[in-house]
Amino acid sequence: MAPAVTHRGIVLRVADVGDYDRMLTLLTPDAGRQSAFCRGCRKPGAKNLAAAQLFVLGDFQLQPRAATPSLLQSQVHESHYALRLDYARLTAASGIAKLALAASLPDAADTPLFELVLEAFDSLCREAAPEVVAAQAALRMLDLQGLAPRLDACCRCGDIPTRGLTFASVEQGGALCGLCAARCTDAIPLTPAQLAALGDTAAPWGRQALPAAFVADFAATHLHLRGPLPTPAAPAPSPAAIPEFM
Ligand SMILES: [Zn+2]
Repeated sequence: MAPAVTHRGIVLRVADVGDYDRMLTLLTPDAGRQSAFCRGCRKPGAKNLAAAQLFVLGDFQLQPRAATPSLLQSQVHESHYALRLDYARLTAASGIAKLALAASLPDAADTPLFELVLEAFDSLCREAAPEVVAAQAALRMLDLQGLAPRLDACCRCGDIPTRGLTFASVEQGGALCGLCAARCTDAIPLTPAQLAALGDTAAPWGRQALPAAFVADFAATHLHLRGPLPTPAAPAPSPAAIPEFM
């Protein structure tokens, strides 16, 4: 049997199996996306119960197996518990997790993506504006993947209008001139400040005037998500519905 391997990782998805087991999907810096089967971890007092929770940062010792590695031992470094305390942060973190799963590959090291997700989760825990952090994380993930919106010229005709670009389109992949915007059904007007913000991936977390709905739509489309991205700006469900989100 192959030797067990320990990965630093963040839990981005959990799926309960049977009465006591759980499947985790981890994002790791050294081995990209990893699945881990946690046998018995939902029993009260189980040793891996604390680590087998959404958004946890920890060390996970995995035993490689033919189908899915098993989680042997774990150590929690940061539970990111605050992300589960209110709907806006939970939605932002869930959206970031969804995008990171789409952007990551199994067994492919990706330290920048791991660090981006960790920074975004830490910022959300520090009470940075959830809708801003969600949009910033989405934009930075697109940038890492080489899929950021094109902003230097109209992405349909290549023109650089003298009065600047004032529209953008998800389908076309970035900024548009007025003439092309009139021909694109999904074109939306953006202010010069919003367009400038779309090109800035180094602003402090939680403080950036991004067009959040446009970024969410852009990321969901260009990272090929199935369905729209949950956004914190959407109306909150009743408190009773929140646990189902986990
Ligand atoms: Zn154009």
